[in-house]
Amino acid sequence: MGRDSDRNRMVDEQIVRRGVADPRVISAMRKVPRHLFVAESKRANAYLDTPLAIGERQTISQPFMVAYMSELMSGLPQGSKILEIGTGSGYQTAILVHMGFEVHSVERLQSLAIRAENTLKQLGLSPKDITVGDGHLGLPEKAPFDGIIVAACALKPPQTWIDQLSEGGVLVTPVKRRGNSQVLLVGKREGGRLVTRDVEAVKFVPLVDERQMSRLSRLLRRLR
Ligand code: SAH
Repeated sequence: MGRDSDRNRMVDEQIVRRGVADPRVISAMRKVPRHLFVAESKRANAYLDTPLAIGERQTISQPFMVAYMSELMSGLPQGSKILEIGTGSGYQTAILVHMGFEVHSVERLQSLAIRAENTLKQLGLSPKDITVGDGHLGLPEKAPFDGIIVAACALKPPQTWIDQLSEGGVLVTPVKRRGNSQVLLVGKREGGRLVTRDVEAVKFVPLVDERQMSRLSRLLRRLR
């Protein structure tokens, strides 16, 4: 099958060659059919080394980035409870479920959440839940989490995420740095605090701050 060999080539050339070695990540990336997470018109490009548009001005992350971020979670044993922020197409969700995690995913755009849920169901890969909401708030009713993985760039990790991590839990998220730059940050909760390190320059869509958006629209209404 062309798609299977394209996918294996993607894993060999873009992922293994760049140093991702965790067997759970590699096995998941070989199995999950990425082309089903993009629009039909984009399927021919699904195994290329690039993010792709998924509608609503959002993107499915580059395959390597999904593998790299998943590997940063791979120290957590199977069955660990993960909060994913920014479901998007559901592709990262599928990889995490395949790795044996209990995945709770949050997406602010209902249309994407519904589409992701359908794609995942079709593949028999079930996250615990996909919730439509603002990821800044986490998912307090399901906390604490052993890991939090974020696919959109925040200014800095909000305190809610730290509060919702279990002790020893891992956070992987892009954050803003000087100018327009972003960095992937890995944090571990130790003694109630987040101990962090920067791992890689990255480029993600912004994590939309719903509170700021509603303050802004109130202000605009008053000015009109
Ligand atoms: N991992 C996804 C990447 C999606 S892009 C994939 O593989 O397809 C990031 C997603 O974060 C977008 O779908 C966007 O709508 C969502 N997002 C942006 N701000 C958000 C917020 N405040 N809360 C939840 N999701 C958010």
